[in-house]
Amino acid sequence: MAAQRARPVRVLVDMDGVLADFEAGLLRGFHRRFPGEPHVPLEQRRGFLASEQYRALRPDLADKVASVYEAPGFFLDLEPIPGALEALREMNAMPDTEVFICSSPLLKFDHCVGEKYRWVERHLGPQFVERIILTRDKTVVLGDLLIDDKDTIQGLEETPSWEHILFTCCHNQHLALPPSRRRLLSWSDNWREIIESKRAAV
Ligand SMILES: [Mg+2]
Repeated sequence: MAAQRARPVRVLVDMDGVLADFEAGLLRGFHRRFPGEPHVPLEQRRGFLASEQYRALRPDLADKVASVYEAPGFFLDLEPIPGALEALREMNAMPDTEVFICSSPLLKFDHCVGEKYRWVERHLGPQFVERIILTRDKTVVLGDLLIDDKDTIQGLEETPSWEHILFTCCHNQHLALPPSRRRLLSWSDNWREIIESKRAAV
């Protein structure tokens, strides 16, 4: 009997903090717009939501920092994370590998949604625009891996189909993960090995 053909490994890749440098863009935008206000240096960022840390610093700063990422042009102008574009292209060219970009838009979506599409088209090209999944609940999306900088990803599915690989970002680097959870320290880290480990499993 012929060996069963393995199904492709499906990789879901988050955008902000994984492909696009949200934190650096936010700090830069905050400095530009509110030059006299106190800020949180990137090495001191803690917690997924920057607005919460700014709120703790001074309550009125939460709205100010939010006004930066809600402004037109913010998402479009984010710099790619080092190595991200090259890694995504290489991953997409790997045999038996399906790559999707899986991102959660802001609730104030007016600029964010369109600009995320334009960012992908600009930096990765139209074939990746075909692979965009925008959702507020990533647990309902089917995949083998989700590479994401958010430390805890919850939604309607208690047991998502994917393994969450925590992508290291300033706000999560201090977190100690249980041994069962894996990290990707950067795009120079061994993402290929993580994909291969899933291939053996499927
Ligand atoms: Mg993210």
